[in-house]
Amino acid sequence: MEIAWFKKIRKPKQAVEHKRVQVPEGLWVKCNSCKEIIYKKEVLRNANVCPKCGYHFRISARERLSSLFDEGRYQEVDTDIYSVDPLKFKDAKAYKDRLREYREKTGLNDAVINARGTLGGADTVLSVMEYGFMGGSMGSAVGEKITRAVERAIDERVPLVVISCSGGARMQEGALSLMQMAKISAALGKLHEARLPFISILTDPTTGGVTASYAMLGDLNIAEPKALIGFAGPRVIEQTIREKLPEGFQRSEFLVEHGMLDFIIERRRMREVLIQCLKVLYNRALVEATLPRSGDQPGTPTREREAIGRTVQFPTSLAARKYTPPEL
Ligand SMILES: [Zn+2]
Repeated sequence: MEIAWFKKIRKPKQAVEHKRVQVPEGLWVKCNSCKEIIYKKEVLRNANVCPKCGYHFRISARERLSSLFDEGRYQEVDTDIYSVDPLKFKDAKAYKDRLREYREKTGLNDAVINARGTLGGADTVLSVMEYGFMGGSMGSAVGEKITRAVERAIDERVPLVVISCSGGARMQEGALSLMQMAKISAALGKLHEARLPFISILTDPTTGGVTASYAMLGDLNIAEPKALIGFAGPRVIEQTIREKLPEGFQRSEFLVEHGMLDFIIERRRMREVLIQCLKVLYNRALVEATLPRSGDQPGTPTREREAIGRTVQFPTSLAARKYTPPEL
């Protein structure tokens, strides 16, 4: 067999097209930040972070879910929610064709996955956005799914974590997309009243209506390093104010410095830190003790609940965590 040193004799194998699972493009990847060519397996081993410069490659919602939940196991819920095409919207392509295309490409119904599982042994609801589905844009299906994740957390009295990765509201659904901002925010208000923690994780990029609603409403707003986070993009702002923007503008580090975020966590440590945060913010026994019991008249809290209501502020203080709930 002739060895081709300088030219290709055979054409490289073509990827099988009908497969939903994304076929890896090659053995090597180029880092978008330091431009180094790195062995792909090395990047994968490193939680999809560049081992040379720490650049965080974009990963899929499913990869995130399995990297966070205990043993990578989780149950997907709210899978039967679809965007319809209420405006019969058409730009270069009809919206319904776009939807069909992305459904085939990603194997998802829309740009978010809701899942439940355990994090450090504690039940948690996770909602993770998928950038690969129309840039993670938020239409009515995404809005409805995130709202249901919030409601599920309230029903089951468990904490909620939302991982955002989105270009913002989906223009193809017009005002219906924008309404999701208010809807989710209202649901989060109820979650807060139920004294359940909500941790928002912002990844590259989190922009537009997503930043302007739930992504910034966490009890903790945590970002991955160097993520682009903002409302309008830097180019639009520059054109509007006719000024050069400062270095690192709208990146996680800049935002932490200016008080917009709580802290930054590298992807490798995300799971560990999430578990720690939930331990501080959430005490299952206490949440259950403040539940209205069946048989209770609404609006007439029991003595126990009154007592707890006076002493326990959210987030749960350390002293309050020692409280032993009354026997049921
Ligand atoms: Zn790099």
